[in-house]
Amino acid sequence: MKHLHCAVFGHNFQIKREVTYFVKEYRCKNCGKEMTINGNGEMVPLTTKYKHINSVLHRVHNKRLEKSQRWLMIED
Ligand SMILES: [Zn+2]
Repeated sequence: MKHLHCAVFGHNFQIKREVTYFVKEYRCKNCGKEMTINGNGEMVPLTTKYKHINSVLHRVHNKRLEKSQRWLMIED
């Protein structure tokens, strides 16, 4: 029944994880289907390939955040 709802009304995506400011992972509340945003800003299914890309992006993103926070501390 849950899948039928998606087929009729479309998926009910919610943000599952923020990878970077621009890239997020989405998960359908009804059927659990997962999507993400690729390099072209298009919504694509969250395949193993994209999961890998996102984990790399997330690591780079976090490193940048750490660096900018360190800089802020130095400026203080
Ligand atoms: Zn769905």
